[in-house]
Amino acid sequence: MTLDEINALDATDPLREMRDLFTIPDGVIYLDGNSLGVLPKATPDAMSDMIHRQWGQDLIRSWNSNDWINAPRRLGDKIGSLIGAAPGQVVAADSTSVNVFKALSAASQLNSDKSALLSETGNFPTDAYMMEGLASASGRQLSAELVERSQILERLTKGDVAALLLTQTHYKTGALWDMAEVTRRAHDVDALVIWDLSHSAGALPVELDACNADFAVGCGYKYLNGGPGAPAFIYVAERHQGKVMPALSGWMGHAAPFAFDDRYDAGKGIDRFLCGTPGILGMCALEVGLDIFADVDMAALRRKSQMLGDLFIKLVEENTSGFELASPRVAEHRGSQVSIRHRDGYAIMQALIDRGVIGDFRAPDILRFGFTPLYTRYSDVWTAVSELADVMNTNSWKDEKYTVRAAVT
Ligand SMILES: *Cc1c(COP(=O)(O)O)cnc(C)c1O
Repeated sequence: MTLDEINALDATDPLREMRDLFTIPDGVIYLDGNSLGVLPKATPDAMSDMIHRQWGQDLIRSWNSNDWINAPRRLGDKIGSLIGAAPGQVVAADSTSVNVFKALSAASQLNSDKSALLSETGNFPTDAYMMEGLASASGRQLSAELVERSQILERLTKGDVAALLLTQTHYKTGALWDMAEVTRRAHDVDALVIWDLSHSAGALPVELDACNADFAVGCGYKYLNGGPGAPAFIYVAERHQGKVMPALSGWMGHAAPFAFDDRYDAGKGIDRFLCGTPGILGMCALEVGLDIFADVDMAALRRKSQMLGDLFIKLVEENTSGFELASPRVAEHRGSQVSIRHRDGYAIMQALIDRGVIGDFRAPDILRFGFTPLYTRYSDVWTAVSELADVMNTNSWKDEKYTVRAAVT
């Protein structure tokens, strides 16, 4: 493949104009939007209005006059339209970790005759940790169990699984679970499924309602570009909502928060999955990120994401040696990232970041490259691999300064 051919792909890319909506620093090729999405150009003005006018001038009146109070539901429905959820089933709230806890506790209540919380070994740690926390809070009734990815469907058939918690797009390898198939297999044995969509929402089309999904959670700061620590989201299928007494029964999930009743009366529908006062500054930034998706054809986004990943794999294999592909080779089985393994992955990634190609490293040996179709060009993939090849050919990664591990990798 020549650079001319790659430039032609950029010139005819149906999403090419979207890049203009984002701030991409000069000299940076950003392949880490799966960890922290870039800044939309409209965010600073929206935040400035939020801070100076809505907070500074309108003050407490803003809960009504600027509709702060409905932000979790309003943003939730916008997220819902990206993940195949009809309105009234998603709220933007809290962190993904906290929402995992809400979903696990709800699922275990709905399946109170079953005792196992199940996930896969090597899942994103917070998911497994939250299972342990809930199991320990429940006394003996619940156990947290991790089995190998290849054993998950088999393990389900024992019939004792209350909730299966899986990350649809694996954070390290990008491997995709088949949501429709796994949900069906879980329902066959009356297990409920919680899908962690942290690396799926905004990265590929998701069809929660069509897959008959039960619960889902996900991040606002990755592909949704909501900013560091942005509010996360939780989806609860309408059929389950009314049957759950929330474990995190905060006042914002009460049927009438401003009645200030002594006793908890769970709110209608998805409202009861809210807990405390929403972080309105974070909601403001997230909403800008979400509104960008209003005009995006998710099928076109998926096609581009697959082509970016395929191109990366092809160029890495043609131009470097010593790397092992850690992601599925077939694009349909992959999210929007490609990971490659190398024993010296940490130092190699640091050397690459020093040259302005930003990916990340996941222990013990994974170099992770996220391809965010809204702002990544085919020519960026070309440049990134050229730099990677150069880092390897010149052995520049062997410089001692690249071996010192920072707190966040
Ligand atoms: C990024 C990520 C999270 C993050 O959870 P926080 O509570 O926002 O820190 C959770 N799950 C998965 C699968 C992730 O990739």
